[in-house]
Amino acid sequence: MKHLITLPFLLLALCLPMQGQEDYKDKNLKETYRNEATYKVEPINYDAIEFAKKPRSIILLIGDGMGVSQVFAGFTANGGVLNLSNMPYSGFSATQSSDNYVTDSGAGGTALSTGVRTYNGAIGVDGDKNPIPTILEIAQKHGKATGLISTSAITHATPAAFIAHQPERSMYEEIAADFLKTDIDLFIGGGKSFFEEREDGRNLIKELQDKGYHVFYSLEEAAHVNSGPLAVLAADKHCAPYPERGELLPQATEKAVNILNQNPKGFFMMIEGSQIDWGGHENNTAFVVQEMLDFDRAIGKALEFAARDKETLVIVTADHETGGMSITGGSMENKEVTGKYTTGSHSAVFVPVFSFGPGAEQFSGIMKNTDVFHKMHDLFGF
Ligand code: MG
Ligand code: ZN
Repeated sequence: MKHLITLPFLLLALCLPMQGQEDYKDKNLKETYRNEATYKVEPINYDAIEFAKKPRSIILLIGDGMGVSQVFAGFTANGGVLNLSNMPYSGFSATQSSDNYVTDSGAGGTALSTGVRTYNGAIGVDGDKNPIPTILEIAQKHGKATGLISTSAITHATPAAFIAHQPERSMYEEIAADFLKTDIDLFIGGGKSFFEEREDGRNLIKELQDKGYHVFYSLEEAAHVNSGPLAVLAADKHCAPYPERGELLPQATEKAVNILNQNPKGFFMMIEGSQIDWGGHENNTAFVVQEMLDFDRAIGKALEFAARDKETLVIVTADHETGGMSITGGSMENKEVTGKYTTGSHSAVFVPVFSFGPGAEQFSGIMKNTDVFHKMHDLFGF
């Protein structure tokens, strides 16, 4: 099933300043992309770190649409190294939903957030449309701090699956209202319009403020805020693609861990690299690579914190692969990748799982997407 994001994304792209956009339009760049802007990855001496036995905090990073080819495209484009290279354990996750061999992000996100396989399009509900508690809600109930970060609207399927309970992913206004039913400490992403330009006339920004949230419309505006609860709604709908949105994702990651870690009981946070998926839908290698590398820089921030903290488990996975992407040519020296695509939609293949920190060894071999929830739940000791 083709995503619902294509039209809004095209409209968004048209409204953006054209600078940087040319990269994506350039003739051959749709398949072949040569990266100019590499970044350094500091090696982490994992074996020298004395980790706690069990995680106090968990950071789950989801690369939407990130299959092995997307990872390898990023790996090549950055000259043969990623922050992911610092994660010692890896495995494979089978992503099938309850009603489809090929999942969407609603069912894929719900499997990761609740441990239940449901129908495509579902948000935090089972096959009978009954709400299922999410790992974020369970962590909150146990006194942990919670957070969500996304480069799409924060009401889009992946983040929504961790906090909302709705029968259809397109119910953005209902999903936004579900944020008010929780005490989430921090969320950063797009989607402002679903909070304040609503059919029901409610102004959820005002309601958030009445609940004690600091609400901002860019990360820069929130620079002086060092404690929660905090909401940053950095775009009306989705955040701009990289590089237009700047270092939002890695910077938000760094800020969020510092705020959430103030809770002595630790935290659960989900961070999404949302637009790797959109590059895949467009069969656009430049888009895939730039989003992959932006996501990897956020992973780097999470690992830097976890290596220091020693009580935080970091898991990186995907909800599904997008584009049926393969890599048929390229050069590690030139940081160049030629991607080929077999679909404009999602594919059924395994997605990778990487892990780092207390309990990381449990995320190896072949697992189901739902196992990621169960392992996190057990490691937290709930
Ligand atoms: Mg998503
Ligand atoms: Zn998609």
